Parts: sequence; structure tokens; C-alpha cells
Amino acid sequence: MSAVDELQSIERTALDELGGADSSERVQELQITYLGRKGPLARVGKSLGGLPVEERKLVGQTANRVRGLIEAAIAEKLAELDKLERAGRLEAERLDITLPGRMPPTGRLHPLTEVLEEIVDIFVGLGFSVAEGPLVETDYYSFQALNIPQDHAARSMQDTFYVDTGAPQPYVLRPHTSPMQVRLMESAPPPHYVVVPGVVARRDEIDANHLAQFMQIEGLAVDENISFADLKGVLEVFARQMFGSNLTVRMHPSYFPFTEPSAEVYVSCFACDGSGCATCRGEGWIEIMGAGMVHPNVFRSVGYPASTTGFAFGMGVERIAKLKYSVNDLRTFYENDLRFLGSR
Ligand SMILES: [Zn+2]
Repeated sequence: MSAVDELQSIERTALDELGGADSSERVQELQITYLGRKGPLARVGKSLGGLPVEERKLVGQTANRVRGLIEAAIAEKLAELDKLERAGRLEAERLDITLPGRMPPTGRLHPLTEVLEEIVDIFVGLGFSVAEGPLVETDYYSFQALNIPQDHAARSMQDTFYVDTGAPQPYVLRPHTSPMQVRLMESAPPPHYVVVPGVVARRDEIDANHLAQFMQIEGLAVDENISFADLKGVLEVFARQMFGSNLTVRMHPSYFPFTEPSAEVYVSCFACDGSGCATCRGEGWIEIMGAGMVHPNVFRSVGYPASTTGFAFGMGVERIAKLKYSVNDLRTFYENDLRFLGSR
């Protein structure tokens, strides 16, 4: 093979390999391979001295042309790769401003607060006002004024946490919101239409259906000629707004010391329409509260005439929330588990 043929072969191989190079490192390797001091062009250059003059000129010119072509191809390839690598880097570092931002979690009302406000709203819509009373009450307002004297058996249902204040009269964490009935009636003559929401305490063992501290909402209506029909009418309006417009209210005789007659209030099961299901334990009815006509002894204790008429009712807010949200265990309302609270 002549020196010129060899140079043309070097040219083809070099340009071929450069064409296939996929990184600037590879191009630099090829630059050393072909143009370096130990490369084929250098070797041809060293052999020029041994060639006849005419041939030396031709081989020299060809070698310079091939070197120039390879150098140009290297420069072009490096520029091309640099552009690609820069584009790749830009793509990798690209800031996607279309990505939605991370939303900070927003707070909301506790389900019990929502249910309490819903209950209050219904009664406010019926013309009731709202009052709150002391959490620590005297024995008198908690029991005696509500027709539950010292040794009355009904105390054992709600006997609760006594607070030793050193005062001659015992103080107690109120077992119900009913003391406010007495305080309100002492403070003004009838009429009264008021609901009293608030925290109460009981001696109950804590389980799925009982809490030692919970919320109650109490209602009191005192006016001329208030009848049991008024009580039922008000509670029907409440129950239908709270649980569903088609349900039926049933009142079942019961006993509370501060009302006479007294009743447990049931609604037809809103989950099964009364045919029987797990929510109503197969009975078709669900108890939602206690109610009754205010006992004459309560009116007597606040100095109202015996002819005064009125009704009262009281319900547990947790119990209403439990029914509304189909919760099996009352304790979940107080465990502060955001998975539960956020899903209600
Ligand atoms: Zn049912």
C-alpha cells in the first residue's frame, strides 16, 4: 500500500470513528489516537525523509489535508456534543413551574363542635336563645333545686366528682346542664325559651358508649299553657332537621326527677327506615334524648306559682354525633386522630 493510500485509509477510519463518538471524552481519545505523537499521521510524517522528492511532496500535502479534515471533524463533533450535553443538563435542571405547590394542611372544626352548632342552630331557628353556665356547680343547683334531695336514689345515676372548696356547701363538676334551668328561672320571670350547651361529668366507666366527660345540650321552655304536645312538636321539628324529614318521633314513658311526666325520645331509624338494622340494633327505633314537663317541685324551688307550665329536654352531643356519623365508639371523638377527624 502506498503512503497516499494509507493516508486515505486513515482518513476514512478516523472520520468513521468520529462520526460514531457519543461523548466528548471519546472524541478526545480519538484525537490522541489519530493526531498524537504516536499516531499514524506522525508515523507517516517521520517516514517522509526517506521518500523520493516528488512523492515526498504529494504525501506531505495529503498528510496535511487529512490532518486538517480530522481536526475539523473533531472540532465539529465537539461542538455538536457540547450542544447536546448542555441541552441535557438544562433539561435535567429544568424547574417545572407548572407543578402544583404543596398545600399546607388547613384546619377545620371538630366534628363535635359542628354537631353542637348544628343542634343549636335548629333551636335558635325555633326561637330559643342560648345560655351557658358554670362547670363547677353547687350541690343545690345540681341536685336539690332539681327535685333530687340529699338521699334521693336518682343521685346514684349521676353522682360525680366532688370538689372540696372548704365551703359548707359541697361543689361538684356538674353532672348535667340542668342547673342552668334553675339559675335562669331564678334570674327572671317567664317566659323562657333557652338551650344550654356545655360540658358535663359523670362517674361512668369509660367504654364505647360512655365517657366520664362529655357535652350535653339542654332545652327549657316555660310559658303559659305549655303542653306535652308543644314538647313533642318542637322535638319533631328538631329530629327531622337533624336526621331526616321522613322520620317519626316516638315518646316512651320514663323517669327523671325534674320532669313529670318524663319520656325517652326515639326516632324511627334513619338508616333502615324502621325495618331493623345494625344502627338501631334491629329495633327500628333509636333513642336520642330524654324529655318531659318541668316538675312542679322545680317551679316551687325557684318561687314560680304552681300553675306555671313548661317542658325540658336534654341530649348528649357525642351520642347525636355518633348517630350522625355512624361512629361505633364514642372515645374516637377524643383521641385526636386526624385520620378519623379529617374523614368526618
Ligand atoms: Zn335501623
